[in-house]
Amino acid sequence: MKIAFIGLGHMGGPMAVNLQKAGHSVAAFDLSKPACDKFAAAGLTIAASAEAAVQGAEVVISMLPASRHVQALYLGAAGAGATGEGGLLAHIAPGTLVIDSSTIAAATSQQVARAAGAAGIDFIDAPVSGGTGGAIAGTLTFMVGASAAQLERARPVLEKMGSNIFHAGTVGAGQTAKICNNMLLGILMIGTSEAIALGVANGLDPKVLSEIMRRSSGGNWALEKYNPWPGVQENAPSSKDYAGGFGTDLMLKDLGLAQENAGAVQASTPLGGLARSLYAMHSMSGHGGLDFSSIVQSLQKRAS
Ligand code: NAD
Repeated sequence: MKIAFIGLGHMGGPMAVNLQKAGHSVAAFDLSKPACDKFAAAGLTIAASAEAAVQGAEVVISMLPASRHVQALYLGAAGAGATGEGGLLAHIAPGTLVIDSSTIAAATSQQVARAAGAAGIDFIDAPVSGGTGGAIAGTLTFMVGASAAQLERARPVLEKMGSNIFHAGTVGAGQTAKICNNMLLGILMIGTSEAIALGVANGLDPKVLSEIMRRSSGGNWALEKYNPWPGVQENAPSSKDYAGGFGTDLMLKDLGLAQENAGAVQASTPLGGLARSLYAMHSMSGHGGLDFSSIVQSLQKRAS
């Protein structure tokens, strides 16, 4: 299948590589030259522009940072107010399936889907969970917002990048599921960090304490796969100076989306709100580009 892949960051790059390895013909593009160079070296064919990448593509996939990037790509520079003219939608052939895997506002997915639908293009949201490790291994979880028929069309492609594919509901529903999950993730990373920092302040070995909690009632995903304390898990971002992984500013964006959504439906999310404030303070003190598990640095006792 001919696939255009737009956005070759921490997640998109390895996802595109997996599609190519599965035998698809992938034309990839990113606005960042270093990102293009990195994945050209990994064997991807880099197109001269997003418009060139989508020429003849049966499926278009995007993996961009936030709502404004997705609006700018598909709808054009006018973004929120635009209808599709001037954006990439005008260059995509009717009948093409467009899968956006970025984590963005559900309302933005619905807005782009409406503009796409008017041009005869199927646009669905399929945000992911599983981190950079899952992107590289091809074991991501996809949360899809689409009609049943659109999902079945996307499934063979998604299966080459992930191992769990959930149908959350109609377009936008994947995004809603994703922000619920990430609000929980943001909260549990802070809780896990607090607990380890408390133990260490009392002289406990972080590795031993982590293992005790992992196998006890406090066990969770951070303790299993993404321990925030350096040196506890060799492959976690914490053991690589918090490089790579899922940036603090991306987590902050997702917690902002959750709060906006909670405001719109008048839901009570007090811990989600507090978590957003703590990641915002962590970002403002210069840690926005570090993996989000570096929040532990804001909670640990420093030598005086
Ligand atoms: P990233 O910042 O590493 O990559 C995004 C890429 O998009 C960048 O290389 C940027 O240059 C490119 N880009 C932006 N606008 C573009 C445009 N108009 N055309 C072409 N390229 C453009 O981000 P990431 O970590 O890969 O995350 C991507 C999305 O996936 C985000 O929405 C994030 O919230 C979500 N996500 C990330 C993780 C993770 O662990 N990193 C996990 C799950 C979901």
